[in-house]
Amino acid sequence: MSRVYNFCSGPAALPEEVLKKAQSELLDWHGAGVSVMEMSHRSAEFMSILASAKARLARLLDISDDYEILFAQGGASTLFAQIPANLMNGFDSACYLDTGAWSTKAIKEAKKYGQVNVVASSKTQNYQTVPAFSSFDLDESAAYLHLCPNETIGGLEFSGLPETSLPIVADLSSTILSRKIDVSKYGMIYAGAQKNVGPAGVVICIVRKDLLARSAETLPTTWNFATLAKNDSMINTPPTFAIYLADLVFEWLENQGGVEAIEQANIRKSEALYRAIDESSFYSNPIDPAYRSRMNVPFVLADNSLEALFLKESEAAGLRTLAGHRSVGGMRASIYNAMPMEGVQALIDFMHSFEQRHG
Ligand code: PMP
Repeated sequence: MSRVYNFCSGPAALPEEVLKKAQSELLDWHGAGVSVMEMSHRSAEFMSILASAKARLARLLDISDDYEILFAQGGASTLFAQIPANLMNGFDSACYLDTGAWSTKAIKEAKKYGQVNVVASSKTQNYQTVPAFSSFDLDESAAYLHLCPNETIGGLEFSGLPETSLPIVADLSSTILSRKIDVSKYGMIYAGAQKNVGPAGVVICIVRKDLLARSAETLPTTWNFATLAKNDSMINTPPTFAIYLADLVFEWLENQGGVEAIEQANIRKSEALYRAIDESSFYSNPIDPAYRSRMNVPFVLADNSLEALFLKESEAAGLRTLAGHRSVGGMRASIYNAMPMEGVQALIDFMHSFEQRHG
């Protein structure tokens, strides 16, 4: 067996220890005689896994009792519709910040449910920066303010939050658990699991309890946040194996020293990679340095005719999936929590050697 360094933006690399533990428990989970995949979701065994995942996540992010942790389905893309369907009820409009491809998709879905006020956009700057919070055209009577603090495709990330009385709803799909956040500042957080949490198939949702009162009874049952909360995320069969893997990833993260420790590692990894890009005139990253993502690092070659060769040689060197998103091209290294510093260093070493050979 030879595992490579996997820079995929998602589904992304998982910690090897987690995969090994899942492997060791695959046929017989804790003496149950069956795999987690084969258990009733209503069994005491699976209920204990679900409870453990919730408890660990609450500890890792210091989530208070004012919030419900939900495991939703359909990917973060379904949440783009599910959020306005639940939270715009009783309101005329919602506010959205536009910082890139994922914000744009969220806006497109929300428009199907009501009026969307785009409070600011960096589209005319090619989404290479984040509009100043002071420039936001906020309507304080709107349902909420939606943000995407890490644009996975563009490689743009911001950490602060604007001052507003509106509940802030944030798509943290590609940054959750990579840095410390103050959950109490959000109305709702959601994140597709397949980057920093586990396999695809489950969406982590953290919803302030008072917002659940907005969900109308006329909503499709499986879309209703209040019903999902009331049923402990089990209106129907949840993605049991994905939740089990998420619990193992949370356990791994606790063993790493939690979010604070992994954030320091993420700072070291991203700084090393951006330094390698900045120190060379062969590679470049277009993002405003104040808003460069720690998780997704896009870069291009000064001579873009070498891109195909770069990708071919990097793959052969055991550095997998470095191609940028199909909509933007170039290269992108996604370096989520599970990517070790050794993987980032191997990429940097390869970049130096490629430049020496072809620069
Ligand atoms: N939001 C962000 C920030 C993402 O990166 C992605 C997926 N890459 C999505 C939403 C959509 O997630 P899904 O494919 O789970 O619907």
